[in-house]
Amino acid sequence: MIRIVGLEKSFKKLEVLKGVHFEIKPGTITAIIGPNGSGKSTIIKTILGLVKPDKGEIFVKEQKLNGGSSYKKAIGYMPQSARFPENLKLDELIGMIKDLRHNPADCDEELFTQFELEKEFLKPVRTLSGGTRQKVNAYIAFMFNPDILILDEPTAGLDPISSSFLKDKILQEKENGKTIILTSHIMSELEELSEKIVFLLDGKICFEGSADLLRINTGEDKLERSIAQIMKGHA
Ligand code: ADP
Ligand code: MG
Repeated sequence: MIRIVGLEKSFKKLEVLKGVHFEIKPGTITAIIGPNGSGKSTIIKTILGLVKPDKGEIFVKEQKLNGGSSYKKAIGYMPQSARFPENLKLDELIGMIKDLRHNPADCDEELFTQFELEKEFLKPVRTLSGGTRQKVNAYIAFMFNPDILILDEPTAGLDPISSSFLKDKILQEKENGKTIILTSHIMSELEELSEKIVFLLDGKICFEGSADLLRINTGEDKLERSIAQIMKGHA
């Protein structure tokens, strides 16, 4: 579904990605994990065409990305920190986004209901709390029923109940055949979601495989401890 080959990216002298390869199979959940600043969001932004890599190639549905944008219709993106037009009221923001897609009749409203966003409908976006913004961000990513969901730190800033709604939603969409990529710097956060883990450290992938395999490789029970083990090995 998505194939990343030899991705390199530097910001001035800072080498963030130093040759990243991995593949994402259709209908799976892949978790990119790694410490803060390891380049998770940079990988995601290159897939979305928001960051231009220095080297390497990305294929989405066997099509090489070459600056075109038609593939983006298949993708729902939840950025790590969403920027919205701050002066709009929430209902105006949502109306505007639906307008851009010519108001499809089959929008997914499940998260809107579960997150009780109607309570916030008439507030200007700038007055929404961090958690509410994150709920809006999640709701918009799922809204148009995309084949591919790219979620950058999706549960960050959510309360436990909302976080659990979102995780259920992610699992349910996987059951519906969606391909999901998510990131986190908190290992335990994703334990129940991660089918496949890509662990990014020092600009390279130091582990790619199932969470179970990671535990076996490092002889540790808990994912978090397994990762700490790898990081110690690198230090
Ligand atoms: P992560 O998502 O894993 O926390 P990021 O991909 O956001 O990491 O960032 C990786 C590194 O690249 C960080 O040191 C960050 O400061 C730097 N970085 C990211 N984007 C830019 C940019 N546009 N300009 C300069 N440095 C950047
Ligand atoms: Mg990030």
